[in-house]
Amino acid sequence: MKIKFLRKFFLLSFFSIFFLLEDIVAEKEINLLDLYKSLHSHPELSFQEKQTSQKLALILKNLGYKVTQEFGGYGVVAILENGKGKTVMLRADMDGLPIEERTGVSYASRKKSFNSEGQEVYTMHACGHDIHMTALIGTAQNLIKNKNKWKGTLILILQPAEEVSGGARAMLKNGLYSKFPRPDYNIALHVSADLEAGKVGYIPGYAMANVDSVDILIKGIGGHGAYPHKTKDPIVLASQLVMALQTIVSREISPLEPAVITVGSFHAGTKHNIIPNEVKLQLTLRSYTDEVRQKTIDSITRIAENLAQSSGLPQSLYPEIVIKDEYTPAVFNDPNLTNKLRASFESSLGEENVIRVLPVMAGEDFGMFGRTDPPVPTALFWLGAVNQKDYKLAKEKNNTLPSLHSNQFLPDPVTTIKTGVQVSTKALYDLFNLED
Ligand SMILES: [Zn+2]
Ligand SMILES: [Zn+2]
Repeated sequence: MKIKFLRKFFLLSFFSIFFLLEDIVAEKEINLLDLYKSLHSHPELSFQEKQTSQKLALILKNLGYKVTQEFGGYGVVAILENGKGKTVMLRADMDGLPIEERTGVSYASRKKSFNSEGQEVYTMHACGHDIHMTALIGTAQNLIKNKNKWKGTLILILQPAEEVSGGARAMLKNGLYSKFPRPDYNIALHVSADLEAGKVGYIPGYAMANVDSVDILIKGIGGHGAYPHKTKDPIVLASQLVMALQTIVSREISPLEPAVITVGSFHAGTKHNIIPNEVKLQLTLRSYTDEVRQKTIDSITRIAENLAQSSGLPQSLYPEIVIKDEYTPAVFNDPNLTNKLRASFESSLGEENVIRVLPVMAGEDFGMFGRTDPPVPTALFWLGAVNQKDYKLAKEKNNTLPSLHSNQFLPDPVTTIKTGVQVSTKALYDLFNLED
C-alpha cells in the first residue's frame, strides 16, 4: 500500500524535476530504484544541493519524520522519536562532482552546473552519494514501518558538501548537537569501488585520513635568464623544496605511522628567458594521528624557511605558507561500535559477505561528527557496489576496476541499494536494542 502510494507520489511530485525510467526490477524495489536513477541523473555540486534536499525532505516528511531543512547549507535533519531509548544518527551525503559521466547507461547524467569559480561544468554522482541517499530513504521507510521492533530516537541527516569538506562542519556549527538530541552512536556507509555488491567492508580504528591543503608561495628576485647571478631564482628554490619535502615522510616520521605529502601543482614563469619573482605550490597532506599531522606541517615550514635562508634571501622574502582552513579530520571508527556493526552485518548477510578491509588515505568529513567534546562513537562502513560479474571478470583478467571519482564508476544499483538498506536497517535495530 505504502509502496503504491509512494510510487504515485513520485510520479506526481518528481516529474517536473526528476524523470522516471523504465521499471526493471520486482515491484517492491521499484521506488528506490526510480529514486536512485532520478538522483543519479540530476546531481548537484557541493553547496548547491537545493533540489535534492527539498525532494528528499518531502519524502521524509510524508513518511512521518519531523524534518528541518536548510540546516548548515542545504542540510536536512529528520527525526523519529519512538519512545525511551538510545539516540542513533545515520548520515548520507548529497553532493555530486564536476565530472562528465562516461558510463553509457540510459540514466547517465548530462547535467551541467556552474562551479564556485563560475565555470560551467558537467556534473556526475561519481562517488555514489546517490546510493547513500537512496539507502537512507529505504532505511527510513523500514524504521517507520517497523516501530514495534525498536525504541529510541532516530536521527537521519542528509549532509551537503562532503566533497569539498564543508558540510559536516556547517551542520555542527549550526548546532546539530544542541538543537537536536545528541546521538549515542553515529553511523554512515560509503560505497566501495573495490568490493562486490552484496558485501560490506568494516575496519576498526583509523579508516580514512586527516586531509590538509597547503599553499606555498616561494618568493625570489627575478630577472634576465642570461644573468642568473643577478637574481635569486625561485624555480631552483622551489625545486629544492619539492625534493627536500620527500625526506619528511621517509626520514622524520616513524615508518609505522602513515603519512603522505604530495605536491600536486607547481606554477611559475611566463617565458624561456625570464627568471620569475615567484612560484606557487599546492600540496595535499595526509595522516592519521594529530601528532603526525602537526609534525608534517611543522617540518614543511622549517625546511621551506631554512632553504630560503641558505639561498641568501632576506627574511622578508621567506616563503609564505598557508594551511587552508578546509581541514578534514581522520575518520576513526570506534572499535567497540565497529565490532557491534560487524556482528550485525554478519547476522544480516552471513560471515562470508562481511570483509575486513584496509584503511585508506582518502578523506571524508564524516569523522567530524565524532570529534566533538565529548566525542560521539562513530563508524563508517563500506558498501560493496561493483557488479558481481564485472568484479569476477576483472579479477580473472587482472583488469583495474573504475575507482570512485572515475567518469566510468557505476554501482550495481539493485544489489547495492538492497544490501545498503538491509544492513543499515538491521544495524539500527541492533543498536537501538543494545542493553546498557
Ligand atoms: Zn568523493
Ligand atoms: Zn564520497
